[in-house]
Amino acid sequence: MAKIIECNKVDPSSGCSYIVRGKDEEEVLRNAAEHAKEHGIHEVTPEMMQKVRSAIRDA
Ligand SMILES: [Zn+2]
Repeated sequence: MAKIIECNKVDPSSGCSYIVRGKDEEEVLRNAAEHAKEHGIHEVTPEMMQKVRSAIRDA
């Protein structure tokens, strides 16, 4: 099932309304890591990954 992550759910302080999409959990996580670069985040820490994972929703 397709998955989405709303950027502002991961980091409300970013003020970013971008929605990361993927055809499955693996792809949406990969796309989220790509999008994180736009926020100057080039390394996803385990803590951040946990936050991102908990923000995954069904599309
Ligand atoms: Zn964003």
